[in-house]
Amino acid sequence: MADFDRVDQQALLPDARAVAATHVPENGLCRGCLDAWSRLAPHPCTHAQWASVVGWLAPVVKQQQQAGGRESDER
Ligand SMILES: [Zn+2]
Repeated sequence: MADFDRVDQQALLPDARAVAATHVPENGLCRGCLDAWSRLAPHPCTHAQWASVVGWLAPVVKQQQQAGGRESDER
């Protein structure tokens, strides 16, 4: 299960970067939501929040893999 979580986070990173690049604040509202869906969402919108969480998790995942990731083999 832990291995699944790692793979998913790595796969999501490019998407998270794209979302973070487009869902930027503009006059307190989200530019990405306005462009994509003509939606007036306060920034950070749920998409920007998701992207920041994935971006925050990704370096942690990378460090775990570089460290060997042996903890999953013990289970
Ligand atoms: Zn947005």
